[in-house]
Amino acid sequence: MNAHWIQCFSQFNLVVRADNQPRTIVRVGDIEIGGGDFVVMAGPCSVESERQTLDTAVAVAKHGARVLRGGAFKPRSSPYAFQGLGKAGLIILAKAREITGLAIVTEVMSERDVELVSEYADILQIGARSMENYSLLEAVGRSGRPVLLKRGLMAKLEDLLRSAQFILECGNPDVILCERGIRTFETATRNTFDIAAVPVLNAVSHLPVVVDPSHAAGIREIVPILARASAAVGADGLIVEVHPAPQQALSDGEQSLTFSGFSDMMHDLEPYLSLRRSLADAELLATQGGR
Ligand code: PEP
Ligand code: MN
Repeated sequence: MNAHWIQCFSQFNLVVRADNQPRTIVRVGDIEIGGGDFVVMAGPCSVESERQTLDTAVAVAKHGARVLRGGAFKPRSSPYAFQGLGKAGLIILAKAREITGLAIVTEVMSERDVELVSEYADILQIGARSMENYSLLEAVGRSGRPVLLKRGLMAKLEDLLRSAQFILECGNPDVILCERGIRTFETATRNTFDIAAVPVLNAVSHLPVVVDPSHAAGIREIVPILARASAAVGADGLIVEVHPAPQQALSDGEQSLTFSGFSDMMHDLEPYLSLRRSLADAELLATQGGR
């Protein structure tokens, strides 16, 4: 690690990667996040209805997603916007898992709900707005469930790793870091996708790193391009919003892919993933040859 990174990150001893330390693999059933596969998590921003969620689950599973995303508890910036279905949404997600075999990732917003959400979810999502909610971090740290920790809107990578350290300190080693764009002076995209976050986090931490190109971009058309960039820079996977009819979505329709948009994205990712596999094989051969 270079001197600057040592200065920024070395105090987070549980999340910083020591020399020769193996990467953390977060296991969810037979899914390995951080183990070399590119794991795609996809689904609607919000669980709106059983039909919408089940249709989306079937479509994303068919095109290679391994995890279904969908918010039942929604952090909306307006009190007048759709706030999510709460427990009814969790029940719908569990039904989608039963039908498709997809694992479930869903947001928990309050420490009060950690127990309830843990009953239904395979992975607990900490949203960008909650990255610094330390009592929530403590609660998910004790939950026994893997956690997908999103980078805060105004958070430095140092802040993200500080929050990750909190969760590990509470006894939970299964943390997945998520780059989802940050606020800058740029307004052409919803947030600014910090592509360098992926190689920096990979260099300094042993935790898996996934990218959310939907919230980074805010614009459907560039989501697949950012997805390809994520694969090229070494992300362990993606979390992407998909909706059966994005123009009718109750949240984040402008950035949600249609089913065919998702299928095209997965198809166009394949050459990048195959290149990654060849590079990983070549690296393995080189290490074995050097023994
Ligand atoms: C979401 O995943 O729908 C969400 C609200 O994300 P973020 O916390 O990154 O804004
Ligand atoms: Mn969203």
